[in-house]
Amino acid sequence: MISPTTEELVAFLDEQLPAERMAEIEQALRDDEKLQHRLAGAVRRQNPGQHSVGAIWRRRHLSCPSRAELGSFLLGAATETVAAYLDFHLRVVGCRYCAANLEDLRDASESAASDDTASRRRRKFFQSSVGHLQSD
Ligand SMILES: [Zn+2]
Repeated sequence: MISPTTEELVAFLDEQLPAERMAEIEQALRDDEKLQHRLAGAVRRQNPGQHSVGAIWRRRHLSCPSRAELGSFLLGAATETVAAYLDFHLRVVGCRYCAANLEDLRDASESAASDDTASRRRRKFFQSSVGHLQSD
């Protein structure tokens, strides 16, 4: 893709670019460190006090993955690209929104797992009681 100009980066921050270009730049930002720095520079000039790319992401909820993507990440079923992006999104960007979402999904899957254990235990107990009844 054609590297965005500073004007474009500023427009990107204000979400003033055509959707296609927004997506292109967003995509490029995922692994182009130089571009991340340029964007951070644009942010600093525009909003003194906002110092990191992470701050922009947090503020804008840019590129938040879907709950389904978070779910597959949690289960270790995400593709390498999605997993790498989520890692970036959660650890570098530190998106609290997604961290909370992930936490919520983790809780849900853990309680589903323990429900499963409980029902298995119940079933086992039931089977052994049946066994006792039959042997009596
Ligand atoms: Zn997010």
